[in-house]
Amino acid sequence: MAAAARRSLVLLRYKGIALRIHWSFYLLVGWVLFSTIAQGLTAAQVLQQLLYVIAIFCCVVLHEYGHALMAMRYGIRTRDITLLPVGGVARLERIPEAPREELFIALAGPMVNLVIAGLVLLCTLVLGTSTPLVVLAHDTGPGPFVRFVFIANLALFLFNLIPAFPMDGGRVLRALLAWRMDRVRATRIASITGRIFAVIFAVIGLLQQQPFLFLIGLFVFAGASAELDMVKARSALTGSLVRDVMRTRFWSLPYQATVREAADGLLAGGDHVLVVTDDGRSPKIVARAAIIAAMKEGDPTRPVGELEGQEPRPLTPDQAARSAYDQLLGGPSVWIPVLENGRVVGVVEPDNLAEYQELRSAGPGAA
Ligand SMILES: [Zn+2]
Repeated sequence: MAAAARRSLVLLRYKGIALRIHWSFYLLVGWVLFSTIAQGLTAAQVLQQLLYVIAIFCCVVLHEYGHALMAMRYGIRTRDITLLPVGGVARLERIPEAPREELFIALAGPMVNLVIAGLVLLCTLVLGTSTPLVVLAHDTGPGPFVRFVFIANLALFLFNLIPAFPMDGGRVLRALLAWRMDRVRATRIASITGRIFAVIFAVIGLLQQQPFLFLIGLFVFAGASAELDMVKARSALTGSLVRDVMRTRFWSLPYQATVREAADGLLAGGDHVLVVTDDGRSPKIVARAAIIAAMKEGDPTRPVGELEGQEPRPLTPDQAARSAYDQLLGGPSVWIPVLENGRVVGVVEPDNLAEYQELRSAGPGAA
């Protein structure tokens, strides 16, 4: 998701949660435009199709805000909500681990869609003279649109409750299982269930020649496997501190060092990432590409501190290693500096963390 956040535009903010539109979402809009125009529809009909797409994605956004606002009730903040062609993703700052929290946060999204479907039904009752089912069956006026919104929300409700990761139903299943067993085992069972569903989707997609269903199958399979890997990796960090997992040998330069010094450092075998330190300012993480770009611009005397980089929230050595893992997973930065008494004493980065986890699972005393 880190990459998704970078290639997306913030549309609005509500309760401090940014709503982002991923670039690939515009492909979907473009595809709808292209296919409707190719079918020879009139401008009004094309607009109508777009209205349908916008309506469904409004419902998806409300669904994601359902998760986010429920998470807020448990004191978990949401970094942002990203809209993708396959749906929405709410990035929570912390993964809810208590089964109860996870259950309610996972259920909140689909419940929003159920409520919308219920409201649509109620509106047709209040506004229409006929029974709601008649209005929904109308093929004139707003009939088809109202019917679409109703059915789409029912479908969103049911689809998201399929007990397979990365759908909400997978989380609901895990939360229910985790009430009775440890989390890794609960995730393993939920992950296997998810993969079974994934294979069923893919096979039906192939047999019925439904490419979208086939893609969903692949997507669910990958999601189910990733969730299990993540939970296993996270549980391998139980009891470890940032001090244990951080890398103490890293490449750093002071703010005022020049781009040329950084380039020399790169050639001398520096990391692909540079930690720029500065008294009183939070350390900056500068990628190799930024150093090379600055050299190409012909400005070798520029201070490295001025280069474009990330300033992730620093960790302290005595924090739980899991919080470092969560920050790496959810944030845009791949390296996180560790500060002690205002000095950078290490960095936490994915490769090092993975090595630690591997060594740890190799046996006690290995790491
Ligand atoms: Zn959801």
